[in-house]
Amino acid sequence: MADPAHIRDDFPILDREVDGEPLVYLDNAATTQTPTQVYDVFREYYEEYNANIHRGIHGLSHEASVAYEEAHERIAEFVGASGGLEEIVFTKNATEAVNIVAYGMGMQEFGPGDNVVVTEMEHHASLVTWQQVARRTGAEIRYVRVDEEGHLDMEHAAELIDDDTRMLSVAHVSNVLGTVNPVAELADLAHDHGALVFLDGAQSVPNRPVDVDDLDVDFLAFSGHKMCGPTGIGALYGKRHLLEEMEPYLYGGEMIRKVTFEESTWEDLPWKFEAGTPPIAEGIALAAAADYLDGIGMEAVAAHENELAQYAMDRLAERDDVAVYGVPRGEERSGLVAFNVDGVHGHDLSSVLNDHGIAVRAGDHCTQPLHDRLDVPGSVRASFYVYNTEREVDALIDALEGARERRDELVASDRFHDRFADHYHAPRNAGAIADPTFTKDAAETSCGDDGEFFVEIDDGRIADVGFESESCAVSTAVASMVSEALRGEPVERALEAEEIVEGLVDGHYPDLRRDCVRGPGEVIAEAARDHLDARHPATARTD
Ligand code: PMP
Repeated sequence: MADPAHIRDDFPILDREVDGEPLVYLDNAATTQTPTQVYDVFREYYEEYNANIHRGIHGLSHEASVAYEEAHERIAEFVGASGGLEEIVFTKNATEAVNIVAYGMGMQEFGPGDNVVVTEMEHHASLVTWQQVARRTGAEIRYVRVDEEGHLDMEHAAELIDDDTRMLSVAHVSNVLGTVNPVAELADLAHDHGALVFLDGAQSVPNRPVDVDDLDVDFLAFSGHKMCGPTGIGALYGKRHLLEEMEPYLYGGEMIRKVTFEESTWEDLPWKFEAGTPPIAEGIALAAAADYLDGIGMEAVAAHENELAQYAMDRLAERDDVAVYGVPRGEERSGLVAFNVDGVHGHDLSSVLNDHGIAVRAGDHCTQPLHDRLDVPGSVRASFYVYNTEREVDALIDALEGARERRDELVASDRFHDRFADHYHAPRNAGAIADPTFTKDAAETSCGDDGEFFVEIDDGRIADVGFESESCAVSTAVASMVSEALRGEPVERALEAEEIVEGLVDGHYPDLRRDCVRGPGEVIAEAARDHLDARHPATARTD
């Protein structure tokens, strides 16, 4: 069993405070902390054998090359790839690993009549990438339904996967629902139809034993920064014969064998996919992270995470103002819990929790379609790792008490511009208007908030304006401020909405809320631009 009391000593960052409160780090599904055993490897590399690999006939280069190659072997062992280093490509992150296969295989080989099956719970890293493959090749993209309890609908999967399916891409573990998907069963289904299986292991490789040979997946992607490793490193596992057949995704030095003015040939695996100087120190440190986790034992990591997640689910169930998403209490889940508290937007709840030193994530967690399916704009996610404790879960639950009141106090506090409180408590122009000339949905921006502007133009002026908001307090207040400032103005003035907001808040971005402040201005400026472009297509702006 993982013993957090002992493990925490390896993570000095966990002793720090945030604004005078002890740090409670519950954002591990985004990035885990790094133990001294891993960053000592960095220091050792830079102090003792920092050099570029494979090209130098000198001692340092040789040492770095050997360590970097051994790191590939170590990672192959960690995920059960019996083909060794040739089946492990180091990448920048999991996202790059998906893209290598999408470009190297999907874009080259898929076409009309083919289909790619993904699931409704995919992270944008794979969903968006396969969507692009489908769009550019004419292949169809199909989505396996997620049921009310956060499980994949396996009957639906069986209906969607057919003899034209080229790839099934599935997350091993959902980064929102905590679901651990039945990968071996899905792989059988896909292989029966001659399809390949791409496993997104970003949320599974860090926290449970993953063996690609046992699961019989064709590809696996994961990131170092979610498994005690550094940022800037991830890995792609691929069955050797598939990697051999695939086109490289990046070209240049390191990945070539012979270059002439006419043509070039590629290096052996895995170097064919590692163009340019690779992440040498990061790769070596990733192997150290695998050593560290194996030292605890991946079974123990999984058990600890499940235990904390169950405890958090139990504690959250004590509250009647909390909605929790994903697999039901009692069923095995990964160490994360996504939830919402009635009447408190996730950004606001994060700010309230941050005041207690508690780090969680709020937003769509790069799963916008899944949140649409859940019919919520976003959620708050607490995610645990080997060093987290039940006491930290208790701290989270305690901090939810009175969250709504504390959000109101926060908005009224001098950390926020006084205009925010005024407009938040008495929003101007709230609500839809009867006959808008145009509307714009805030969900179309990257802000992560949800809401809509309604604008009526009369004789080139903004005669009426309204908004509906499911956004955080700051965004709602800014929507009110900007609507008030624009009412009666020429529509062109809305193009400057972002500058108007800057002026109104006087450069005041409370509590890391830059995006929340900027969002509404961006939305209404974009809406005005679309409107003007539609009216004057010949002079439409292209920027
Ligand atoms: N897939 C899943 C399930 C994830 O949770 C994440 C990270 N949030 C990714 C892919 C992408 O990882 P990265 O940003 O490190 O490429």
